[in-house]
Amino acid sequence: MSDQDKKGTTMDAFDEEYAFVSREVRNFIKPVRLGRKETIKFRCYPGISCFNACCKDIDIILTPYDMLRLRKRLDVTPEAFLYRYAKPSTLAKGQLPIALIKMDKETGICPFNTPEGCTVYDDRPVACRYYPVGMALMHKQAEEGHEDFHFLIKETFCKGHAEENLWTVGAWREDQGADVYDSQNNGWMEIIIKRRSAGDGVATGLPISEFFYMVSTNPPELRRFFFESSFFKRYEVAEETQEMMKDDDEALIEFGFAWLKSVLFGDRHVKVREDAIKEAEARRKIREVEIKAELKRRIDAEAAKAEKKDDK
Ligand code: SF4
Ligand code: SF4
Repeated sequence: MSDQDKKGTTMDAFDEEYAFVSREVRNFIKPVRLGRKETIKFRCYPGISCFNACCKDIDIILTPYDMLRLRKRLDVTPEAFLYRYAKPSTLAKGQLPIALIKMDKETGICPFNTPEGCTVYDDRPVACRYYPVGMALMHKQAEEGHEDFHFLIKETFCKGHAEENLWTVGAWREDQGADVYDSQNNGWMEIIIKRRSAGDGVATGLPISEFFYMVSTNPPELRRFFFESSFFKRYEVAEETQEMMKDDDEALIEFGFAWLKSVLFGDRHVKVREDAIKEAEARRKIREVEIKAELKRRIDAEAAKAEKKDDK
């Protein structure tokens, strides 16, 4: 047994968390729990014998910020991006829709990969940045919020593990520019975690899956939804926030997830306006009066009918 085997915790939650990843891929992964200060030995560079081997036959989740960066780089609309480069999928628990990179049907190779390497390297998805470190988020039942933990992905084809360069997990994350991605994806991640803990039992009047996918993938459509509906009459949103949402996609997406969290989990990040609550209450009372009047009308009609019958 290696030192890592002795030290590491095999995550039984792992298979469950990544159930959407094919078993074949998961079987290559050896999860060993790591803190940010723990070290890994790794180096990847053009010219290494396995160069590009990790860019095929793998399911890579596209986070909202991944897609934002890639769309900007490729200068394509959300619809074109999803059509050309993404494959829809669903997280096993919580039933939330996500997008994966659409690998080539024949070769299994990532559409951004060439023999020279990644063509979108500066804007590559966060999963590619972390690699060979993976990140999982554990929900702590007893506490608010969440904590992240990392694990080492050791695939037999990856020769980078045989190199001598030593990194702490924290230094690796920093070197790969992962922190900005994690902070931009925070709202998205929180909903996934909370939804997973709450299961599918969270009931709302909204088609949550559709909204979650729209916030994750399509800022122009989300903007239309907020600005071309009665949304701001119903929810309290500071003028300043509204202004930012008009042309800043990051602010728009952040607000979108904050609003979804409020709807799903009632954490009041985005509050319903007092006057909207009063209006809804007034509408409810009017409706109640109308229903009662309708019931009375029907009862009276039935009684009149019965009376007529008796007279005969
Ligand atoms: S398989 Fe490992 S070492 Fe080889 S290119 Fe991919 S990350 Fe780098
Ligand atoms: S995005 Fe780049 S790094 Fe990630 S799998 Fe595709 S080619 Fe490889």
